[in-house]
Amino acid sequence: MLYCPYCRMLFDGDTCPDCSSLGRTPAPGDFCLLTQQPGMFARMLLDVLEQNGIEAVSQATQGATGIFSNMNMEIYRIYVPLEHLQQAGELRDELFSPDSAVGDDRAEAEEEET
Ligand SMILES: [Zn+2]
Repeated sequence: MLYCPYCRMLFDGDTCPDCSSLGRTPAPGDFCLLTQQPGMFARMLLDVLEQNGIEAVSQATQGATGIFSNMNMEIYRIYVPLEHLQQAGELRDELFSPDSAVGDDRAEAEEEET
């Protein structure tokens, strides 16, 4: 696993898939791309990260691509330090999972059944 300081993301292989730079060994404090979200969701996620003590930075992007390209909204890239990337990923999945809105009761019930 290498780190591209230009794209601020981790990648497998010899060169960055985005910019073809050679990258370097990731180090603590390296900001890594966590996700790209429209403004409203980006703010929600930044709030959750802050509540969990994770320092995050966001960057508005111009010229959104993919599924966002037809929407008139700003897309934010959210970066977190390498040492928090895994925890931040779990928080992101929790926040944006369709099942997470109701609360944790269901998950606890499932554990009892097994
Ligand atoms: Zn790159």
